[in-house]
Amino acid sequence: MRLTDKKNGPSHGARLFVVSAPSGAGKTTLCDAARRHLPDLVYSVSSTTRAPRDGEQEGRDYFFVTEAQFREGIDTGQWAEWARVHGNYYGTSARFIEDHLDNGRDVLMDIDVQGAAQMVRRYPDAVTIFIMAPSMKILRQRITARGLDSGSVIDKRMKNAEAEIACRGMYRHVVVNDDLGAAIARFVSILKGGAA
Ligand code: ADP
Ligand code: 5GP
Repeated sequence: MRLTDKKNGPSHGARLFVVSAPSGAGKTTLCDAARRHLPDLVYSVSSTTRAPRDGEQEGRDYFFVTEAQFREGIDTGQWAEWARVHGNYYGTSARFIEDHLDNGRDVLMDIDVQGAAQMVRRYPDAVTIFIMAPSMKILRQRITARGLDSGSVIDKRMKNAEAEIACRGMYRHVVVNDDLGAAIARFVSILKGGAA
């Protein structure tokens, strides 16, 4: 498949995968599994103004930037897409993904629904994938069990989840992450180009 960037024209057959999911649906788990199955896949490291969580590493999980640095990126057109999510800014470097696509490498991005809509406008051939938990009840259980967020943050994430799930029709593929093994198999199959 040729990937077309409306601004810069087609790239060299590499594919761009845009993945979104409500917080806690299992996106990190599935993306980590995909990276183990497909070691050549490049994971797009986003920039964010949010503080690092325990265990997160600069340049591996995110580039952690100040709000001033992020705004400068907006002013200089550095971001292929950007959005404010849960009160923080997040953005994808256009240079990062386009350099890899130009080198023939498939790129996987994990971004929110606002960013995904921007990516589809800019790269109409991007393969979009929405991951969801089997139910809202299970989603809440997973966020709680993960143990990263306080009660009020969990409530905020659950509210956002409803709005995000309402956008799932925008995506080419929807993966319901119920049985983990089955969800990984489906996700990897999409990334290999084998799923309808
Ligand atoms: P996200 O990145 O979408 O916020 P995570 O990948 O961190 O979500 O998953 C949230 C929690 O749910 C983690 O504790 C993870 O181990 C667990 N989890 C993910 N997928 C499943 C699954 N299919 N069944 C049960 N637990 C899961
Ligand atoms: P978290 O703070 O939990 O890592 O991510 C919060 C949300 O921000 C998730 O929905 C994640 O997909 C989204 N996100 C991460 N990076 C980007 C990005 O570069 N752009 C956009 N639009 N969203 C992002």
